[in-house]
Amino acid sequence: MELRAYFEKYPDEATCIEELKNKRLENGLTCRKCSHDVHSFRRNDLKFQCRKCGNRISLRSGTVMENSNLPIRYWMICIELMTLTHRKISILKIQYLLGHKRYEPIWLMVQKIRLVMKIRDEKYRLRAYSEFDPEFLQKIDKMTIEKKKTKSASD
Ligand SMILES: [Zn+2]
Repeated sequence: MELRAYFEKYPDEATCIEELKNKRLENGLTCRKCSHDVHSFRRNDLKFQCRKCGNRISLRSGTVMENSNLPIRYWMICIELMTLTHRKISILKIQYLLGHKRYEPIWLMVQKIRLVMKIRDEKYRLRAYSEFDPEFLQKIDKMTIEKKKTKSASD
């Protein structure tokens, strides 16, 4: 079963932090202060640090995971599940598979990933881990749990 492979691929948060870090470095990080593109990673506070000016960027900043308190592992498994099922998996099922008690944070996570996947359909799995422009991030930030009431009928 392919699903098991995904859970094995992301066994714990540390593995996921490492993976996200590598993905972001592969995609290329540019310092917002000095435009230098070589960064080191600080494991103690999960931040990239510009090798030239020392400016720091948090691991999640600029990505769809920004401002979320959910573990990075949830995001990665969720992105994989949605990729695997071509987005046709219910939020309740994702919540069940993750074993998370509350529905609302999972709902919000899925909505954000859906938005990302819709816009960046081509390479969305990769794109889900990339940095987005501020305008798009604002759109993501505006999504709140309240919106659930109007949209969750089908989930
Ligand atoms: Zn810099």
